[in-house]
Amino acid sequence: MYYRGNELGKLIIQLAPTGIVPTKESNPSVPVTPEEIIGQTITAYRLGVSSVHIHARDEAGRPTTRKDIYEEIIAGIRKTCPGIIICASTSGRIPGGRRDEVLDLAPDMASLTPGSVTFRDSISINPSGEIMHLAREMARQGVKPEIEVFEAGFINTARYLQKKGILAAPLFFNFLMGSLGSIPADVRDLVYLVESLPEGSTWAAAGIGRFQMQVAAAAILMGGHVRIGLEDSIYRDYQERTLTTNEELVKWVVGMAQCLGREIASPREAREILGLGSPGG
Ligand code: MG
Repeated sequence: MYYRGNELGKLIIQLAPTGIVPTKESNPSVPVTPEEIIGQTITAYRLGVSSVHIHARDEAGRPTTRKDIYEEIIAGIRKTCPGIIICASTSGRIPGGRRDEVLDLAPDMASLTPGSVTFRDSISINPSGEIMHLAREMARQGVKPEIEVFEAGFINTARYLQKKGILAAPLFFNFLMGSLGSIPADVRDLVYLVESLPEGSTWAAAGIGRFQMQVAAAAILMGGHVRIGLEDSIYRDYQERTLTTNEELVKWVVGMAQCLGREIASPREAREILGLGSPGG
């Protein structure tokens, strides 16, 4: 599940440009409109990003599950970033939204969070019926789940769903570490999560807030993949509270990977690593 020295494979860098929590007021670089999300994804793609995790916002900048907005974002990214892996959020933090509608738009992947989490200012609500429904819909529509892990117990739920035939191996996990209310972001926590995965899984990790770069470095060294972006941290420097941009965060991860001897995967190589077909197929 993780490797040493010269066994390290190529690195998938996923951009999470916007998320649910960051606002323009907190950081003016946070992309909110489809044009902004597409534009910042193009920049990141040119720098080496092969995957993008998208959220939609409505005209007032509020998080939404609206399919027409997702459609505009997905179509724009497909047109301008050939081969990039599009992972749509099915977030459990938007009350009243239809979480499964975005699957009709044939994203390559979609987030699946097999458990609920209490954050500082919000709750991600994922009852087991909803998890099963989303997982079954993803299987039916050929969308690969990106299993979001906030706690080690989520891996057990994924194993259970695999045993029941609802999730099909090989599984892909994304560890989201360091939020108040989730697993901490120490290296020992990451080692524990990786060692708990079903055989043959692939994984990425993201450190939330001040842990973003630390978790990226650990994931690069352990043979995992990295998620980076303003969704997870709006600051470059937590002491000084200096704001960052998606472009700067991607450049840092690319530089870090080069220093540590990991080659960056192209979108085609990323698709091979994750067992995905061609875009939109
Ligand atoms: Mg998200």
